[in-house]
Amino acid sequence: MVVEAALGDADVARQALELRDYARIDMRLRPDGRVAVIEANPNPWLASKAEFAMAARKAGRTYPQLIEEIVDLAQARYGVTWSAALQGIGIGVLVSLLFSVVPLLQVRFIRPSLLLRDEKSKRRIDWIGIAVAAVFGYIVSDLLSGIVHWAGDTVGDETTPIFGPNFVKPFRFHHVDPEDITRHDFVETNGNNCIVAAPVLMLVLFLLPDTTGVLFYTCVVIACTAFFVFCTNQFHKWAHQKNPALWIRVLQRAGLILSPEHHVVHHTAPRDKYYCITVGWMNPVLDKIRFFRFMEAIFTRIDPKSLRPDPADRPQKEAEAAIAMPS
Ligand SMILES: [Zn+2]
Ligand SMILES: [Zn+2]
Repeated sequence: MVVEAALGDADVARQALELRDYARIDMRLRPDGRVAVIEANPNPWLASKAEFAMAARKAGRTYPQLIEEIVDLAQARYGVTWSAALQGIGIGVLVSLLFSVVPLLQVRFIRPSLLLRDEKSKRRIDWIGIAVAAVFGYIVSDLLSGIVHWAGDTVGDETTPIFGPNFVKPFRFHHVDPEDITRHDFVETNGNNCIVAAPVLMLVLFLLPDTTGVLFYTCVVIACTAFFVFCTNQFHKWAHQKNPALWIRVLQRAGLILSPEHHVVHHTAPRDKYYCITVGWMNPVLDKIRFFRFMEAIFTRIDPKSLRPDPADRPQKEAEAAIAMPS
């Protein structure tokens, strides 16, 4: 009876503390026969002669079996899941699309202009136009990263359908453990953004005309936006990395990708600004025009409970002030 009660209490403690794989729950037996939980050790000493291994032996597990079981549990969690497989496919599709857009540009614009240098062709590659469109795409992607990040940090909670587990959870967990992102591999870092960017690039492939014009430059802006959306999490990860490669540091110092010095503003309380994480160029602009306070005012007006539940954690007063302002 007492053992059963102790096991039940241990399981309640495990669930309450969201412990996984293995843990040691320390208990004391009261004189009246009731069990008291004293503390939980989420990573107890694993030596073969320590209490955890002794308890495992009592439960019929040899020491190698115990270690194998712990490793199996962790492996099952980090094994190939559907989302990881999708992320991998997303990266594959995006890389293939990038390799398709570049040759298409070359076939339609670069090669004719090189082959037909006999002055009959009026085609010239408008490198300046393409460069301006690419920079514009970079700015659009920076803006999008800010809006999505703001929404993840601010709107709804982890139980919000689809948005909760995919945006709210990772963005808010990022504030609890900002360095966790540096431990993600390439697929985990970039997979989701590839899944978003790949269909957009596919659309560009279909739309890309063979003459320059409004549609052509729009396609370049969209393609560059999609490409930099793909880069965003990588740039964000580098901004948290302790010792990035020299060339990454050079790009960060030059302000060409998100720098740690710039991004630290977002991670400083009350964490209500500098949401853009591709390069951060839009951050001072959006801060100046109080863009996110305006968004919060709109959301609060639609549904006062739609913003993150902890009022101390969000600029409630600012949001209310923005509502009070005549629109
Ligand atoms: Zn954030
Ligand atoms: Zn960050």
